Amino acid sequence: MPIGQRGDLAPRAVEILSRVDVILAEDTRVSRQILKSVGVSTRMVSFNSHSEPGKAEKVIQSLEKGESLALISDAGTPAISDPGGFVVRRVIEYGYSVIPVPGPCALTAALSVSGFPSAPLHFFGFLPTKPSARDQELETALACAGTLIIYEAPHRIVDLAKRLDAKAVGRSVLFARELTKTHEQLIRITAGQCESWFIDNPDRIRGEFVVVLGPSKTQRSSCEVAAEKLLVMLARELPPSKAAALTSEITGIPKRTLYPQLTGKSEV
Ligand code: SAM
Repeated sequence: MPIGQRGDLAPRAVEILSRVDVILAEDTRVSRQILKSVGVSTRMVSFNSHSEPGKAEKVIQSLEKGESLALISDAGTPAISDPGGFVVRRVIEYGYSVIPVPGPCALTAALSVSGFPSAPLHFFGFLPTKPSARDQELETALACAGTLIIYEAPHRIVDLAKRLDAKAVGRSVLFARELTKTHEQLIRITAGQCESWFIDNPDRIRGEFVVVLGPSKTQRSSCEVAAEKLLVMLARELPPSKAAALTSEITGIPKRTLYPQLTGKSEV
């Protein structure tokens, strides 16, 4: 379903939604209104993350009877930070086919105008809400090489901006706000300045956000991170020169690169 502009509902989606026997919808009232405006009057059944396991079994029963079903989200693409993944897996397990009807998705809409590389790409959906889990997940995200995408709710966007300022300073960030809507805004900014941008004008906090981070310019590879861990562990038990030599032998990273990390001196 559209993420703002009703006109983004594609003709093929309308055609398929008119043709299926049942539409599974998150909020049947919201979707019925939109679909009525394009002449779709197919029977709808409500479907959300709480009802998904039970509804998945009913979906299988409907498929066994020869019915066809479509799954829609209130906004965007089902199963992308929205219910749907579980039922898709069940349908596949039972050997029925699931076909996509590509349409609006906040993730791809933001990425396509970010100017950041589309691969490698790491999508984290919504970060946890508990501060410690949130920090941990953000750190995991920031350690990934490539472009990062995070969904965020308006009441947590300042918190995320603050954490990005603290943990990702210097990294290019796009706050894609209210995509396809009247107050659409693409805020291209550098981490370190994110929180103040929001605090300067509380109106900026309103709406829906996709946060896209460009790749870190100083990204270390996972091999470098593992080598550093190994080096530190070995240096607890061995002299720096020996720890650097063993780490070099295991990882292939030259000793002359590793030794200064322990001692600050270039001499081995
Ligand atoms: N399945 C949806 C999709 O395909 O994009 C995402 C659903 S998720 C529950 C809702 C989140 O998507 C919002 O909190 C926001 O991060 C993002 N989002 C949805 N619509 C948006 C829009 N118009 N502009 C910016 N972000 C949007």
